[in-house]
Amino acid sequence: MKIAIFSDVHGNLPALESVFRDAKDLGAEKFFCLGDIVGYGAFPKECLDLVREKAQTIVKGNHEEGVINPESEEIFNIRAVQGLKFSRERLDLSDFDFLKTLPSKFVVNELDISLAHGSFSEPSIWTYIEEEAQAKKEFDNFSTRICFIGHTHIPFVFGNIDGLFKELPDDMVLNPKERYMINVGSVGQPRDEDNRASYGILTIGNDVCFDLRRVEYDINRMVAAIRNTNLPQYFAERLLTGS
Ligand code: ZN
Repeated sequence: MKIAIFSDVHGNLPALESVFRDAKDLGAEKFFCLGDIVGYGAFPKECLDLVREKAQTIVKGNHEEGVINPESEEIFNIRAVQGLKFSRERLDLSDFDFLKTLPSKFVVNELDISLAHGSFSEPSIWTYIEEEAQAKKEFDNFSTRICFIGHTHIPFVFGNIDGLFKELPDDMVLNPKERYMINVGSVGQPRDEDNRASYGILTIGNDVCFDLRRVEYDINRMVAAIRNTNLPQYFAERLLTGS
């Protein structure tokens, strides 16, 4: 079975459409979303509608929290707050009701995987897991074999035996004796100097494989859409460089 796991769409509809096309071509049967569907980009409503249509499970990101709870805005920088305001204006009441129902973490017992946006241990504090030592600590806080996260917009695979991988081979075969924490990167605003959309495909068969997919999309369409709004222009510029 192939499962597509994606995060940090951030209102980037062209990137999301390309990712779904790629996942469909590869035969993905399930879709799990790790949050931050909204914020930054020009298409928050369109992205939310599409994710709701496709994904079996969605956990809440800090940008969903920012949209439904303006008091939490103080943890965002000024430009991000403009993105939240823009998203808020485009969503309708039923979208808000839906966002309020999202869990901050989720365990898919039958697949032995956990899902969270920033960290599984403190999903509502929005910790950024970037260092090996932080990732290591997390293993005590989830009980499944693999925990998937997003939030930093920078993909990695961290195994409790083999340590940290930032450069990932295609179709990495996971060691059956090992547990993993995997960051799938960002669909709509990658920040690792690669401007292609990032997401993961987990294949569960005789082996369990993780494939970090990098997918090209129509960046110019997204840049033009942002330039047509009052969103900070920086949100368009950074998409070109993936930073
Ligand atoms: Zn994000």
